[in-house]
Amino acid sequence: MESSNGHTDSGDTSVWDVLIIGGGPAGLAAALYAARAMRKTLVLEKVMPGGQIATTSEVEDYPGILMTTGPELSMQLMEHAQHFGAQVEIGEQVTKVKLDGKVKKVKTESGRTFSTRSVILATGAEPRTLGVPGEDKLRGYGVSYCAVCDGPFFRDRPVAVVGGGDAAFDEALYLTKYASTVYLIHRRDEFRAQKVLVDRARANDKMQFILDTVVDSISGDKAVTGAMLRNLKTGETRELPLGGLFVYIGNIPSTNLLEQYVEIDDSGYIEVDATMATGCPGVYVAGDVRKSPLKQIVTAGSDGSIAALSADKYLDYLAEELSPEEAERLAEAPENWEESY
Ligand code: NAP
Repeated sequence: MESSNGHTDSGDTSVWDVLIIGGGPAGLAAALYAARAMRKTLVLEKVMPGGQIATTSEVEDYPGILMTTGPELSMQLMEHAQHFGAQVEIGEQVTKVKLDGKVKKVKTESGRTFSTRSVILATGAEPRTLGVPGEDKLRGYGVSYCAVCDGPFFRDRPVAVVGGGDAAFDEALYLTKYASTVYLIHRRDEFRAQKVLVDRARANDKMQFILDTVVDSISGDKAVTGAMLRNLKTGETRELPLGGLFVYIGNIPSTNLLEQYVEIDDSGYIEVDATMATGCPGVYVAGDVRKSPLKQIVTAGSDGSIAALSADKYLDYLAEELSPEEAERLAEAPENWEESY
């Protein structure tokens, strides 16, 4: 039986039109467009709305908004989708999917099973870790992947940011509000980051650059006390005293569960065509999890809108083939559907 909010627990027989996995900018933009197309739309988000931007300090490159924060924009994106009728379920981690067939199934860690005619994969990416001694042990004790969450703990103390991309520069600049010194440690002497960010960092008195250098280990017993650095050109090593170390060395696309349904390139990203369609009918991809030349909030939103409208067209096509009665029948999960996946 269908509950008032459109879903039921295990044994659910309601069928969503568009089920979106991931509540970052791509997933929430997809939800907005799908809901405005009058499709019964559900977003499943495992942690909090916004995905990576939920832990981003300042956002100043989203067109039409001069300056906002990641958490604020995350809430606005979610509320916008909800305003047009999308349902957003936070804290629902997807553990199993069955994406073939006309009615697809998605199961979450809490034990709920959802049925849907189309799926948009907007699972984003997870921060890449350094993989050096001390990193795991001191995670949460001075090793951080989120400046906006942990920056205020390092007031008047020296911290380091590892990385040379936009994220490293954005977050290093944010940390200068709190820390006494922010060392930017990068393995090369050139940066991937936009010039505007590099220039701003160079002009900031609190920033110091340590280039051609990698972190070999992170020191500290109960909290970070420093990092062992190695210069890649000279081979010289030295201990840098630190209160905290922030890792911003890129992301790893979150594609587990999906490998059997979608094409994944050598770097781990999902390859799709310009309509965001995968080779699997009714399954679309949007945002940082897909192979694309640019990963920005605005491009994630753009992907989401295209994926939603592609799903909308697919649903029109499906409606000609699948009666509501047949959809309901297919939505009844066979008892053992998970065992075959
Ligand atoms: P990114 O652009 O992939 O940069 C990753 C950086 O980490 C690179 O400098 C890379 O060095 C370095 N790196 C990678 N693996 C490393 C390792 N094992 N040890 C040491 N260094 C390592 O990642 P990102 O900065 O997280 O950005 C991801 C995407 O989001 C990008 O497309 C970016 O433009 C976008 N983004 C945009 C904004 C903005 O517009 N304000 C903000 C944040 C992110 P090499 O350069 O030597 O490879």
